[in-house]
Amino acid sequence: TTNAKKEDKGKNIQVVVRCRPLSLFERRSNSYSVVECDTARKEVSVKASAHLGEKSNRKTYTYDMVFGPLAKQIEVYKSVVCPILDEVIMGYNCTVFAYGQTGTGKTFTMEGDRSSDGNFTWEQDPLAGVIPRTLHQIFEKLVSLDIEFAVKVSLLEIYNEELFDLLSPNIDICERLQMFDDPRNKGAVMVKGLEEITVHNKDEVYAILESGAAKRRTAFTLMNAYSSRSHSVFSVTIHMKETTLDGEELVKVGKLNLVDLAGSENIGRSGAVDKRAREAGNINQSLLTLGRVITALVERTPHVPYRESKLTRLLQDSLGGRTKTSIIATISPAAINAEETLSTLDYAFRAK
Ligand code: ADP
Ligand code: MG
Repeated sequence: TTNAKKEDKGKNIQVVVRCRPLSLFERRSNSYSVVECDTARKEVSVKASAHLGEKSNRKTYTYDMVFGPLAKQIEVYKSVVCPILDEVIMGYNCTVFAYGQTGTGKTFTMEGDRSSDGNFTWEQDPLAGVIPRTLHQIFEKLVSLDIEFAVKVSLLEIYNEELFDLLSPNIDICERLQMFDDPRNKGAVMVKGLEEITVHNKDEVYAILESGAAKRRTAFTLMNAYSSRSHSVFSVTIHMKETTLDGEELVKVGKLNLVDLAGSENIGRSGAVDKRAREAGNINQSLLTLGRVITALVERTPHVPYRESKLTRLLQDSLGGRTKTSIIATISPAAINAEETLSTLDYAFRAK
């Protein structure tokens, strides 16, 4: 029945919206909030002005979850990422995306900030995002399960359909990586030479990500609009070995991809590249293809266009099938961003 299908759909791809508070800049420029979030009803509504061509004055959307400007990092982690991490530990591949206009909180959600008083450890800081919290929990959970395990991480970024390894020991950030179909694992790709670092505890990960951040700062100075146009893919692979009571060895491998996407500002409300952006030759193939792949998965069309972009090829073994995907769409509450906000909400709604 359609109901059962809907139920099933909701289980594999989950779409949540997070609205950040008005920024100082927005308040100083006398912009006001046009967004209302109703967490209990899972609704977001935007007061649209007439010039945007909206028929009614308020446009309301429903998602799997909605987080308003007061939502804490820990709430987002607990409700969105915790259930996904359980799947990964059972041996599945999963992905969490942050999607939205530049400046709406994608990086804040995925990585987080550090509190200015500096009295907290990395993952205990109330401003810590999904990545530090996830790593902390992975070690906590695996140690408590009393099994043999190994955790590996990689961090790569896609800019202009080229792959860069942020954890490579090579200091030249401009070295591009190549990807190939994995002959041993159908549907998966291999990235030749990608650095995968084994980590033994969460503190090691912190140092690793710090070195990645230094490379990112270099990329930022070398490549035009790098921070808004690049996709950052942080992957954690967990190898687990359990010995059953009758001495049998069970091996499980799970992977979690935490993806901070490029800014969505060039994707128009139809889900296609905005006309101005197209004229400027500014097309983000990976962001566009991701939308098409998700639509194909939601509508269950037989052909899913994974191969049409680097990002979707890379994530092919973690999107669709028995995997779980969460999309966190981030928005600004400000009137000056209303058009982009509606565009993000439309994109996110189609993925539901
Ligand atoms: P993006 O990565 O989408 O471009 P950022 O994560 O860099 O956006 O966020 C832009 C600014 O807004 C940052 O200064 C960030 O700290 C702040 N910010 C974003 N989301 C929130 C939030 N939910 N609560 C408080 N501040 C936020
Ligand atoms: Mg960012």
